Amino acid sequence: MTTLRVLALSTGDNSSFHPGPALAPERIWQVLFNGAANLTTETGTDLGVRTDWRTLHPVATGPGKQGFEAIRRGVRDSLDLGSSVLCLGGDHAISYPAVAAHAERHRNLTIVHFDAHCDLYDAYDGNPYSHGSAFARIMENGHAKRLIQIGIRAATAHQLEQARRFGVEIYEACRWRDVFRSDIFDPHSADPLYLSLDLDVFDPAHAPGVSHHEPGGLTPREVFDVLHALPRIVGADLVELNPERDHADMTAALAAKCVKELLGLMLGD
Ligand code: MN
Ligand code: MN
Repeated sequence: MTTLRVLALSTGDNSSFHPGPALAPERIWQVLFNGAANLTTETGTDLGVRTDWRTLHPVATGPGKQGFEAIRRGVRDSLDLGSSVLCLGGDHAISYPAVAAHAERHRNLTIVHFDAHCDLYDAYDGNPYSHGSAFARIMENGHAKRLIQIGIRAATAHQLEQARRFGVEIYEACRWRDVFRSDIFDPHSADPLYLSLDLDVFDPAHAPGVSHHEPGGLTPREVFDVLHALPRIVGADLVELNPERDHADMTAALAAKCVKELLGLMLGD
């Protein structure tokens, strides 16, 4: 039976501003199971009765390149067991090793990346492994065929130059609805889809518990509607919850809801 594993990548080592995301996986898990909401997704999958997914599994992390290798190994180990993987960050830097592991298994990945930021800096504050550089590393290493970014509203000239260099398809926050155009996702394409969800894609009114507030973002409803319209997802990550900046767990609850919907979409009916 195909199984799905949720991996905890509890690191904030490559945050440029605040290491709080290291606390995120445990917090999301507490809120998901605190009894305030049921475990049935909007698409009707009751995670409470499904036996084909496994609860939070910690993966070793650490600073620098060795930390990335540990994450890549941890994700690869789960994929080798025949599982599909949902990674809970952690800061967004974890997407580079997580996608690298998926690229070993899946050719021609298309990445759908929700974020206020492009995360395409060649290096940020001198750190080429910064959470602001994850997608530059992914693209220059050829780990994805397409990168589709949704919700962007803080792109710099340098990042737009990088986007042109890598052929990134950007749907800024002001025109996120364009992703519903019929020519964006070919339902007949065999290219596998990987989803990366940075919680700062949401407007800070809905998600104050992130390190970088960037007003003018999407609502949860808008993001869920895009998620539910996507073709089948083979792997995903959810990153950048910062519990130390949250209010009454409202961002953790939004993250838990995202986890629930992603699990439903990845498991299917
Ligand atoms: Mn990001
Ligand atoms: Mn971001």
